[in-house]
Amino acid sequence: MKKILLLIIVLALVVGASILGLSRDWQKPAIKLTEATHVNQSVVVMASDNRGLGEVCYYLDGKIDGKSCINAGGSTSYELTVDLSALADGEHEVCVVAADANPYFPNRISECRSYVLDKVPPRVVLESATRYMQRGGGAAVFVSTPERETNIRLTVGEHQFRFISNAEGTRHFAVFAHPHDVEVADFKPMVVVEDLAGNTRRLLIGTVTKDRQFKHDTLNIPHSFIERKSLEMLNKEGAGKEAFLEMNRTMRVENRARIKSITSAAQSPEPLWNGPFYRNLGAPKAQFAEPRTYLLDKEVIDHQTHYGIDIAGLAKMPIKAANNGVVIFAEYLGIYGNCVIIDHGGRVFTMYAHLSQMDVSPGMNVDKKEVVGRSGNTGMAGGDHLHYATYISEVPVEPSEWFDPAWLQTRINDIYNDFKAEE
Ligand SMILES: [Zn+2]
Repeated sequence: MKKILLLIIVLALVVGASILGLSRDWQKPAIKLTEATHVNQSVVVMASDNRGLGEVCYYLDGKIDGKSCINAGGSTSYELTVDLSALADGEHEVCVVAADANPYFPNRISECRSYVLDKVPPRVVLESATRYMQRGGGAAVFVSTPERETNIRLTVGEHQFRFISNAEGTRHFAVFAHPHDVEVADFKPMVVVEDLAGNTRRLLIGTVTKDRQFKHDTLNIPHSFIERKSLEMLNKEGAGKEAFLEMNRTMRVENRARIKSITSAAQSPEPLWNGPFYRNLGAPKAQFAEPRTYLLDKEVIDHQTHYGIDIAGLAKMPIKAANNGVVIFAEYLGIYGNCVIIDHGGRVFTMYAHLSQMDVSPGMNVDKKEVVGRSGNTGMAGGDHLHYATYISEVPVEPSEWFDPAWLQTRINDIYNDFKAEE
């Protein structure tokens, strides 16, 4: 009899200890709710537990009686979508209670979070924009968004153009381009506005774009040129097609990527220019967006596009800044040789290439007509000339528009002035 009693006591102790042990091994589940402060439809709950989840419940706005539950069936993680779309816009509280699958003493965790439910897409109003532009040219737009705290961007196909916004975030200005390689029918400058809740609204800017033909040019490349440039640009010997393509293709692609990273890192948001851009003196030698065919021993070896204008004057002539701005680059850059890039604010940049000498360095402020260096033939240049280019964001555009006071006033400055005017 005594033996049986002892056995029962021992058994009870073992079972009790094992239950206790079992429950101690169970950790509380973890829950993670959507982190945004604003939502437009639902809140996502991620529940997890190292040994399995039991019941996961949620309730809205403190109404614990109205809670709804699911059984996660012992899975270690479970994603639950709490649909708020039937509720009225405004602030709502979402509470979640999750239990683990411990059969004896389920561990529970609860968390509540408040959200602003906003199902209304933001409004965007086109206040003013350039009406007439040309393929390869620039334009400007001013839009307003009555709702604050929106994210706004302008896209043209794969290209993005950044807006400058007022302090309230309700008025926005951007300079944008019709890239020369985009057909008129495919040119769709689109303003995309997204609010904090993720609602979006798109607006198509109705510009009238004139198509244009770009003059074609054929260049005969002498072996002696390749020989000289291969040493300068590649630091190795070569006088044939291979060396030429390494410079004219591979290096060109790298140089363009570098220009894109330089311009996208530029810091001056507000336009710094004052009046029309200055054109350095000299004879025009090559035009913007000229398609070029390269011949070596009468054989076609390459095709490229010329993204600036070439101006030839006296050798080693002083080269002047086209307008006020900040120097953001002054270095040797492959096909462009010694190259200076100036940020004029408003996402507008000018570039001065093939220089024999550079008189400025990054971070320097320059005034219009201030000397930045001297012309030369460094990089992919046969003779002494200035390669001058204008970029809107990373898109090269027709530089001559910016030399024209009437064009600059009506196409860009008038729209910027509307943006800056008091409401
Ligand atoms: Zn050029």
